[in-house]
Parts: sequence; C-alpha cells; structure tokens
Amino acid sequence: MKNDDTVARGLAQAESTKTIEVGRGVLADSGRILADTLLAGGRPALLVADERTWAAAGAAVEERLRRAGARLAEPMVFPGSPTLYASYDNCEEIRERLRETGALGVAVGSGTVNDLVKLASGELRQPYAVVATAASMDGYTGFGAPMTRGGLKITMPCPAPLAVIFDLDVAAAAPRPMAASGYGDLSAKIPAGADWMYADALGVEAIHPLAWELVQGGVREALAQPGELAAGVPEAYEGLCSGLVMSGLAMQVARGTRPASGAEHYFSHLWELDHLGAELDPPLSHGFKVAIGTLAMTSFHERFLARDLAGLDVDAAVGRWPSWEEIERDIRGTMSGPLIDKGINETREKYVDADALRVRIDRLVESWPRLRSRLRDQLMPAERLQRMLGEAGAPTRPEDIGLSVDDVRQAFPRAMYYRSRYTVLDVARELGWFEEITEEVFAPGGVWT
Ligand SMILES: [Zn+2]
Repeated sequence: MKNDDTVARGLAQAESTKTIEVGRGVLADSGRILADTLLAGGRPALLVADERTWAAAGAAVEERLRRAGARLAEPMVFPGSPTLYASYDNCEEIRERLRETGALGVAVGSGTVNDLVKLASGELRQPYAVVATAASMDGYTGFGAPMTRGGLKITMPCPAPLAVIFDLDVAAAAPRPMAASGYGDLSAKIPAGADWMYADALGVEAIHPLAWELVQGGVREALAQPGELAAGVPEAYEGLCSGLVMSGLAMQVARGTRPASGAEHYFSHLWELDHLGAELDPPLSHGFKVAIGTLAMTSFHERFLARDLAGLDVDAAVGRWPSWEEIERDIRGTMSGPLIDKGINETREKYVDADALRVRIDRLVESWPRLRSRLRDQLMPAERLQRMLGEAGAPTRPEDIGLSVDDVRQAFPRAMYYRSRYTVLDVARELGWFEEITEEVFAPGGVWT
C-alpha cells in the first residue's frame, strides 16, 4: 500500500474507519482481523452477500471467522441475478435481521451490498465492516449510502465502515467491467484535483493537505497499468484498490467529498438523474458515467490551460459579468424540473458580485504562472487518458454509455449549475470563456471529433 505514515495519519483522523487491509491473500486473515476489530466485544457477525460475492469471498470469510472463534448469525445471501438493488426495502430487511440477532454486519461485496449494510448499521448506530470483492468504485471507505426510496434516488447519511478488507486476488477475479468502472472513478481524481487547485488558489476552498496526499499521492501510479488490470493481473490491482480506498478515507478526513470529486462527477450525477442505463442488468455503473465526465472535464481543463491569461482584459470581463437575476434566468432555461430550484440555490452560494469578481480575477492573474505550471503537472492529456481508459475496458466515447456527443455538450452548463462546488467551469464563466471553451472541447481535433 502507499506510504504507511500517510495512511496511519489518515486512519487517526478518519471519523469511522480504523483498520484497512489491502493486499494479496488478506482474505485468509479476515477472521482474525474482524475478530480483533469489529467483533472484539464478542457480538456475533452477520455476513451479508449476494450469491456471486458469497462464492467469491463470503464462504471463505465465514470459514475464517469460525476458525477465529467468532460467533456467527445465519448469513444473508441475496440472489445473484437479477443484480441486487440498493433499495431501502433491502436495507430494512438487513437492519431487522441485525436487530433480531444482535449481530454486527459484515458486508461481503461491492457497491450495493456495502451501501445496504452501511445504512442498515448506521440506522442502528452500530459499526460494521466490509470485505470488498471488486475494485468498482471508491465508496467502500466513504460515508453515506446512495439508496432508492419511494422511487427517488438519494444519498442517505451514515458512517463509513470500521474495518475494510480488500484482497487483490479477489478483486482481480471479479467480472472485468467492475475494475474498469473503478478505473473510471479513480481517473476522476485527476481533473477533480485540478478543480480543487483553482478553488484553493482563488481562496474559495483551501486544499486539505492530508486529504490531498491520500488521494493524489499514488493516483498516477495506480492508473499506470490499465492493460494489466484488464488482463486480471493481481499485482496491478494494488494501486487501484488502495487508490479507491484512500479516496474514501480522504473524504472522511476532510469531512466532505471535495477530495474525491469535481465537476466530472456532476456529469455522472445528472445522467443518473436521467436514469441513463438504469434498464440494463447490471445497470450502467457509476464509474462508466464518471469516465465520460472525466474525459469531458480533462478536455475542458486542457483548453483552458492553452489560453493566455496574461492578455486578459479584466475590465471587460468584469463589465460582462451578469447580475444574479440574469444568471437565475439562465438557470431556468438550462435546467429542468426540480433541478431548477436546486441549481438556483447551489449557484447562488458561489455567486459573487462584480467587485468581488474583480478581486478574484486579479488574484488569478497574479498567481497564474505558478498555478498554471502546477495544473500542468496535475493534469494528463485528454487523448492519453482516453487511450488508458480504453485499455482498462472503460468507456471512451459518449456512445459507449448510450449518449450522443451533443448530450455531453449540453451537460456542461448543467454541471456548472448543479452544485455550489467551485470548479474550472466557474472560473471559465467568470472570465467570460465558458461557452467558447465548451465549443472548443467539441471542435475538430478534440477527443470525440
Ligand atoms: Zn465516484
């Protein structure tokens, strides 16, 4: 795993997670690890899995727990097909079983199983642990669980796991699209980091040094072997698995999602709200949507960096700056349904008046030479990232996830208005460059044209 001292400091500052074991063969130690952490008080364990993850790791964990002398409730194994759904009904079923048995939950699986046990345990105010079975997303160590309740998909608050066990051999044996999804989610940390650099440099949201180090410290290395990941080489999973786990840990340390997501994630959230690929089994993954958002944003960052800020006419930019009323009107024309009110509320939080804008632009111009070179080190050419995503088996074009190029183009202003988080999209808008750069992303010579 990455620098042990950084991880130790991360665990010390994390709200919930106190033990992380990532490595080859750690499944064999799962009984002892769980007995020493989650089950140290002598309560029984309730293993929760679906048929596939039970076969991949659940039975082995049960066996190891038995040998470690742990008490076990009858495991809950959901059907493997159709794919288990993160619905509140399933969560309630697990919660009631936990209550009846007095057991502590051990999720054995990937995103959905983990989210269900996380929320069920959170509602009972008791800790849980997860034995991860696929490198599919960075939610293992994160707080909160996306859940469908009454037909609506919402992220419900609940604490992260006490312990995380991630065996690289298990991850490498999981269905290939899962690691490709995780690869997409991890690639997002590149433009997300660049977004945070802008927010930091402009005094909007300071970089949290430890959270930054946890996420960004090993991300390039972790993304460096897409072909080996696709081939299922266990050693190549070290960086991906620990990178995903560290992202969640960083969110705990920073008490927010900023370390792990920027505007690229808003593309994914918007498509999720449009139910993109929801009819598929398994449904279109988070990481696949994020991969396209990441390429869109990496291209946008690239075009921004290619511009000459030194020649900017600050008076003209400030003179063009719309009033709040004009922006609100634009949001009404850009967003639809309940997203209109959300967009207005979120965008109002980051709106500044013309005087404050001038201060901000002056600050940007002044810090630009240094900031630009740091951004160049942070970012990766969009074309290269596209090639790497392709080698990992992740989507590289809008059509790969059932979208047109124009759908992605239209998502840019929606992504900008979707959240109060300050990103390069806001910087571009404040300089009066937003529309032009968006067009450039789709001009000939871009990743999709
Ligand atoms: Zn994500």
